[in-house]
Amino acid sequence: MRVVTTKRAVREALAAPRREARTIGLVPTMGSLHAGHVSLLEAARADCDVVVMSLFVNPAQFGPGEDLERYPRDRDGDERMAADAGVDLIYAPDVAEVYPDGFATSIEVGGLSEVLCGDPDSRGPEHFRGVSTVVAKLLNTVGPDVAYFGQKDAQQAIVVGRMVRDLDFEVRVEVRPTVREPDGLAMSSRNVYLEPQERKRALALRAALVSAESAASPGVPAADVLAEARRVLVEAGVEPEYLEARDAEHLHPVESFNGRPVLVALAARIGRTRLIDNSIIEPGSEPGRDANSD
Ligand code: AMP
Repeated sequence: MRVVTTKRAVREALAAPRREARTIGLVPTMGSLHAGHVSLLEAARADCDVVVMSLFVNPAQFGPGEDLERYPRDRDGDERMAADAGVDLIYAPDVAEVYPDGFATSIEVGGLSEVLCGDPDSRGPEHFRGVSTVVAKLLNTVGPDVAYFGQKDAQQAIVVGRMVRDLDFEVRVEVRPTVREPDGLAMSSRNVYLEPQERKRALALRAALVSAESAASPGVPAADVLAEARRVLVEAGVEPEYLEARDAEHLHPVESFNGRPVLVALAARIGRTRLIDNSIIEPGSEPGRDANSD
């Protein structure tokens, strides 16, 4: 496994595989790897000839007052886990390599970036502007055949998918199921912030989604399903930042479970830690099973 820090070194490292028409898979990460990231790396390893992982804590997707400075970083651990998962190349640029002096361009995926986490009362559309812009740059630098994203960040995957389509990137976006701790908590680099009591309270996120899955059936109003999920959260002392049911493709609000896949998404602050989780409720799907789960 090689570790490089410049765009130029990435292009040089990938020149030969590209010439030989070997397939390239890209897994963008902010590091502090856990089993969720590893599942993406393993999927890339299974599908592609060359696996590239980017490791970059992207300042552009953090708002003022968010956790950019204290975001967990573990470079040695990341390199070990990446090597174990069969990564061929890590691209770990510094901020100046990605955003040189005078950098002025940004990409905004209209509509999709303005709801849920993109709502001004949540992280705001600037968050997804930062995500879309950095992902576009990574796609241009690496030129992968396939790029892997986690269902854990459902809205991010939808935003990236739309950007790739709208801007004609020649890449397939592959979305992999959420990997969870045995007790159901979605794996996240931010889980290390949780104190033991908060860690227990955080289980309410998944419990709320499972209760939504159980309550949802054809014709049931979304408001009733969300009320049930909210009850589970509030009973555990968790006040959601948002808890919404939206069309899983276009993110339009839905009034009822009407046969199309519905994304039930929530964000909540547990102490100082902001967590998100979601579930895609497909017609006939089984409660407690993540969409696309193997
Ligand atoms: P991050 O390092 O948090 O930016 O995440 C990098 C990629 O890993 C994103 O595509 C995330 O959606 C994905 N990811 C994060 N947590 C999980 C998880 N628990 N299960 C599956 N994928 C995940």
